[in-house]
Amino acid sequence: MRTQVGIIGGGPSGLLLSQLLHLKGIASVLIERQSREYVLGRIRAGVLEHGFAALMREAQVGDRMDREGQIHDGFFIAHDGIKERVDLKALTGGNSVIVYGQTELTRDLYEGRDRLGGSVVHNVKDVTLHDLQSAHPHVTYRHEEELERIDCDFVIGCDGFHGVSRKAIPKDRIREYERAYPFGWLGVLSRTPPVSPELIYAKHERGFALCSLRSQTLSRYYIQVPLTDSVEQWSDEQFFDELKRRLPPDFASALITGPSIEKSIAPLRSFVAEPMRYGNLYLAGDAAHIVPPTGARGLNSAASDIYYLYHALVDHYEKGDDRGLENYSNKALARVWKGQRFSWWMTTLLHRFPDGSGFDQRLQDTELTYLFSSPRALASLAENYVGLPF
Ligand SMILES: Cc1cc2nc3c(=O)[nH]c(=O)nc-3n(C[C@H](O)[C@H](O)[C@H](O)COP(=O)(O)OP(=O)(O)OC[C@H]3O[C@@H](n4cnc5c(N)ncnc54)[C@H](O)[C@@H]3O)c2cc1C
Repeated sequence: MRTQVGIIGGGPSGLLLSQLLHLKGIASVLIERQSREYVLGRIRAGVLEHGFAALMREAQVGDRMDREGQIHDGFFIAHDGIKERVDLKALTGGNSVIVYGQTELTRDLYEGRDRLGGSVVHNVKDVTLHDLQSAHPHVTYRHEEELERIDCDFVIGCDGFHGVSRKAIPKDRIREYERAYPFGWLGVLSRTPPVSPELIYAKHERGFALCSLRSQTLSRYYIQVPLTDSVEQWSDEQFFDELKRRLPPDFASALITGPSIEKSIAPLRSFVAEPMRYGNLYLAGDAAHIVPPTGARGLNSAASDIYYLYHALVDHYEKGDDRGLENYSNKALARVWKGQRFSWWMTTLLHRFPDGSGFDQRLQDTELTYLFSSPRALASLAENYVGLPF
């Protein structure tokens, strides 16, 4: 089949781009390796920048987010038995974030694609990218045992960290930067009221913990664990006992526990591949970069890529102006690296590093003391957390 834009991957990046392009009359075909149920079963991010929310509205899929998403004007950092609030609204001159689960957002995007009659093909196999340096790239894949082919002007790789798009770029044309952290996050989703209406990031000598939420009845909690731990090693009871140990006493005693409805361990990694373009292949989202989730940047960095790419493709098709496409990689990477810096900094500030020296720990303590004694330092944290401008 022939289309203008071939999109690989039906996560938030691919779905959002196909929806936005559709509304501008630009045709796309999106192929996804998994079933829709599988994609919608993944529990991932939950903190959205207002720039992302604006894109959802522009894509005509923001109604439920606006109804059910919760505006958060601040969050807590707990350390040494105390909690200190980061007042995002006051520190940024009125900005905040929206707490709305990635699962819900992805559901809204799928519904949006259905409403417009968008072309989304699930359960594809053997996806292969061809002739990426030519003006006529194409993608082949297998679907229900048939070999299919998409001929297009541009291929957009939105297929996440483990996808095929980045790997289709010859090794001598791409550079990868990576840092793997010596720990992971054990996450539990439970149908319980959240311990706090605002997120709590807790630094503790036993390791980091995060109290997050998806709604007034759905809580998402995390604790830092060694990479060697497995989910089976952690009963719900052990998980909540450990979480309570890492929280200040008033939060620990207020915590309502309940059976986990999802439990998983995610390793923490920083990764950037550059450039984010090879011929007529453009990478976006986790296909090109991932961050440790500490700064809530992962999904939001994907959204800024889509913002730049969407505008570049519209300029190409509507005005014959290719400057946006030519500058895409540089522009996207400039913001990606700022998100990387912030995520690395938050991770380093709040985690217990198994190989950290006494010196490192004293620096961590001093960094926190400085943060809460300097309105300017705190304003920098807040500015990055609510999202730098696109
Ligand atoms: C376990 C986990 C927890 C996370 N928690 C947070 C968090 O708390 N906060 C935060 O900000 N971010 C978090 N993230 C990151 C955030 O979820 C991602 O940044 C976001 O999903 C990126 O969207 P994407 O569409 O670029 O990639 P993805 O959501 O990964 O979507 C890529 C899609 O491509 C599909 N695909 C892969 N290979 C192929 C192929 N060969 N052909 C076709 N399709 C393919 C995949 O099935 C997938 O649906 C988390 C990520 C993970 C993995």
